[in-house]
Amino acid sequence: MKTFNYHSAKDVKQASKLSSTSSAFLAGGMTTIPSMKLGLATYKDVIDIKGIKKLSGIKVIKKRVLIGATTKHVEVVNSKVIKKTIPSLSALAEGIGDPQVRNRGTIGGSIANNDPAADYPSACIALNAIIHTNNRKVDAEKFFRGMFETCLKKGEIIEAIEFEIPIKSSYQKLPNPASRYAIVGVYVAKHKKGVNVAITGAKSCVYNETDLAKPLNINFSSSSIENIKISSSGMNSDIHASAEYRANMVKIFTKKAVEAC
Ligand SMILES: Cc1cc2nc3c(=O)[nH]c(=O)nc-3n(C[C@H](O)[C@H](O)[C@H](O)COP(=O)(O)OP(=O)(O)OC[C@H]3O[C@@H](n4cnc5c(N)ncnc54)[C@H](O)[C@@H]3O)c2cc1C
Repeated sequence: MKTFNYHSAKDVKQASKLSSTSSAFLAGGMTTIPSMKLGLATYKDVIDIKGIKKLSGIKVIKKRVLIGATTKHVEVVNSKVIKKTIPSLSALAEGIGDPQVRNRGTIGGSIANNDPAADYPSACIALNAIIHTNNRKVDAEKFFRGMFETCLKKGEIIEAIEFEIPIKSSYQKLPNPASRYAIVGVYVAKHKKGVNVAITGAKSCVYNETDLAKPLNINFSSSSIENIKISSSGMNSDIHASAEYRANMVKIFTKKAVEAC
């Protein structure tokens, strides 16, 4: 690991001011630290945001759930509020990595990183999330731009993620047996205004599969997607699964999620 300057930010304004093109925010450190140790990333400044109280916590405001960016996965797993309002979100957090990762990793770090196989981005799309930063509020659909890419600008900090409480929802994934990242993960959510089918792990970035959402909007039953063909074009292909296998899993895990709803 190369040398770097460590800063412990006292508030969001200071954290943002300290950031540069060669800095990283330290939330759970579950991506930043291994990347630095392996020499995959080097930073001049590492800005610790864990001590900023404003960034952590879970509350319900006007039928929407607001989760602070540095809220850890384990807190989402154990939150009575989330279990009551969006139990599928708590189940998703419970399926992330291992106890060590869940005790350090944060929801803000996960979505800022936007790993193509991460679980939370699918929740953001399926639950019509709004990402609150220190400068603006962004719809999840516009937030995730591509592989490890978001619309965050230099010095922009995620403060909280606001989720719509659905009528019913379920997240189902085929986990990588070692890391638990999603080889394919499907988050189905039925809202008053329609159904979302958010897919992670299958392509370079999370997306809403409208070919599956459309028939489910008419008839919310796994039988309604029986004859839908999912193309493998643009899907990831690696040692874990071919593109064709992933395309098949997208449909199978959507059916599972609808049935679990
Ligand atoms: C062994 C292992 C297994 C894992 N398995 C899974 C899994 O099954 N599913 C899954 O979804 N994830 C998995 N993860 C990822 C993990 O859950 C973390 O969410 C992820 O590593 C990043 O979160 P973090 O809080 O640790 O962020 P950090 O590592 O601290 O930061 C990551 C990046 O996000 C930026 N950042 C952090 N917070 C903010 C913020 N508030 N505003 C703006 N930018 C910010 C940082 O600048 C940095 O670039 C795994 C990780 C490991 C090491």
